[in-house]
Amino acid sequence: MTSRAIPTVRLAPGKEKSLLRRHPWVFSGAIAEEPHRAGFGDTVTLVSSGGEFLARASWSPESQIRARVWTFDESETIDEDFFRRRVAGAIEARANLLARDGDADTVGNGVLSSSQAGGRATGNALRLVHGESDGLPGLLVDRYGDVLVCQFLATGVERWQEVIVEALSALTGAGSIYERSDADVREKEGLRTRTGLRLGKEPPELVAIEENGRRYLVDVREGHKTGFYLDQRLGRDAAARWCRGREVLNAFSYTGGFSVAALTGGAASVVDVDTSGPSLALARRNVAANGFGGEDTAGRYDAIEGDVFTLLRRFRDSRRSFDAIVLDPPKFADARAHLDKAARGYKDINLLAFKLLRPGGVLLTFSCSGLMTGELFQKIVADAAVDARRDAALVERLAQPPDHPVALPFPEGAYLKGLVCRVR
Ligand code: SAH
Repeated sequence: MTSRAIPTVRLAPGKEKSLLRRHPWVFSGAIAEEPHRAGFGDTVTLVSSGGEFLARASWSPESQIRARVWTFDESETIDEDFFRRRVAGAIEARANLLARDGDADTVGNGVLSSSQAGGRATGNALRLVHGESDGLPGLLVDRYGDVLVCQFLATGVERWQEVIVEALSALTGAGSIYERSDADVREKEGLRTRTGLRLGKEPPELVAIEENGRRYLVDVREGHKTGFYLDQRLGRDAAARWCRGREVLNAFSYTGGFSVAALTGGAASVVDVDTSGPSLALARRNVAANGFGGEDTAGRYDAIEGDVFTLLRRFRDSRRSFDAIVLDPPKFADARAHLDKAARGYKDINLLAFKLLRPGGVLLTFSCSGLMTGELFQKIVADAAVDARRDAALVERLAQPPDHPVALPFPEGAYLKGLVCRVR
């Protein structure tokens, strides 16, 4: 595409500010005039009301986020090579995140946590491309061993999907590239959902991965997101450290990510709670895959299918208590209008959890709602402790790991927050 063929989109006066700060999104209200010639995923040149070049971006005619920036560099052409470079850059940026074989003694057999290994994890599962923060808005790619799972969540990456899939294959040599473009956000972009094999061989029914000495089975076809919550690696490392010798409740357990971490870290016992039977069935298999499923370990693991809000109340009423509780619920707020309700939800479960903790117990509590700031989340957890009449101290803060970076001009990218609180 020559620059002459690229439609120009002029912003309303004063609306160039966020772009000058390198924020990658332009909302519909910032556009002075909708371009006639730009369709789904077309490249456009964004200019200020005064006509100055601001950025090249992809056009999303149906989304409130009308444009997503590819580059702030006027000399950079948006062509197939651009995407090869960006994908290569994202993969290269992660070259030192996973410890290699030769580093085995620094990291041990997964005994040391990734934070103790200077941020490096051992294993074969990693996010390779993290959307906006890797300069590829709307593209997520997770690696599970030999299987890559990708999501195209915006019109721009949708347009360039072929070259992106080819680049991923060429750069990683992965045996399978599987697509999970079935997230709700595609609807806002005016895109239909799409899933299925993109390249290579069909992935196994369950893909076996390893992370800091923990083993998991991942259902890349039906699992949440791309199959597994890779973003909770540091949370799992923390659970391994904090749950040693403790009786643990893991609420919103999904497939037992935290349960395996707690058990391999030496937890006395773990109880998982989730409303999803199939997720709990896989959690059981994951626990067993780590050596905690046999007769000799019976009594150390239990899975309860049920609603966390109800079950925490039942535990409170029956005076059941725990030494450690993990609360990692789904996103409670996906729109600003839901923030109040979300805050009440977080307050409710954290308050109940504080009540269930034995003296000296720890709460590992998380929020993955991007709209909930870290400050507000901490305030809610503090209020919950007060209302539960517990003295509690913050002993560790957690966030998404380095393979889920946050571009500095894009603070929205920092969605995952975790607090470890110890009660007296
Ligand atoms: N902690 C998990 C991820 C949690 S995803 C991990 O680290 O892998 C959120 C989970 O909460 C999903 O498995 C979903 O089935 C479950 N869930 C949602 N609402 C629930 C509720 N009210 N009670 C119990 N489980 C719930």
